[in-house]
Amino acid sequence: MHEKIKNTISALKANNIEVFYAENKQQIPEIVKGLLNQGDTISCGGSVTLAECGVSELMNCGDYNFLNRAEVEDVAKLYRDCFSADAYLTSANAVTEGGALINVDGNANRVGCIAFGPKKVIFIVGANKIVKDVNEAFLRVKTIAAPKNAVRLGLNTPCSKLGHCIALEGGIAEGCNTSNRICSQYLITAFQRDKNRIKVIITPDSLGY
Ligand code: SF4
Repeated sequence: MHEKIKNTISALKANNIEVFYAENKQQIPEIVKGLLNQGDTISCGGSVTLAECGVSELMNCGDYNFLNRAEVEDVAKLYRDCFSADAYLTSANAVTEGGALINVDGNANRVGCIAFGPKKVIFIVGANKIVKDVNEAFLRVKTIAAPKNAVRLGLNTPCSKLGHCIALEGGIAEGCNTSNRICSQYLITAFQRDKNRIKVIITPDSLGY
């Protein structure tokens, strides 16, 4: 196992986060399956990673009560229902080698559920998301995650045209006031008091952005 992944796994465990290692992305759905019970109520944040590793397919297989925002009219109610789900699946925008999970959201349904609510939160993380520290994590958000997601979602944000955030030099881009802004809420999960509530499945493969 690569030294950087090894160190990140140790640091996450020290922060009360349970970690599973997948040698490749193909192993991930089976690990997720082992963490869920048939009939569990599950949901997820919007994520390219979940689709790329086959977890979206697993969520839709019929074994679970999947709260799927693509299939309901009242999305706001579904977002509230997610707080009492058995499990919430997501990727991270970045994971530091010191064992912190960094996530940035537009309307906070995902970061809300990461911070509190669902009994379990299961992260799928490709090695491309591992960064040295919190500063590098926010730089990753501003140069990779946010611009690429803004383009994917067809959002009219400064970064979707520039290819990067307007605030590369630091700060939280106070000048980005577009209603499409996808960096509205910033969450740093530095420690999990409820031991092993958060689980991270980490792979050397590259997943999502
Ligand atoms: S703050 Fe605005 S410009 Fe910067 S990355 Fe987020 S959406 Fe893009």
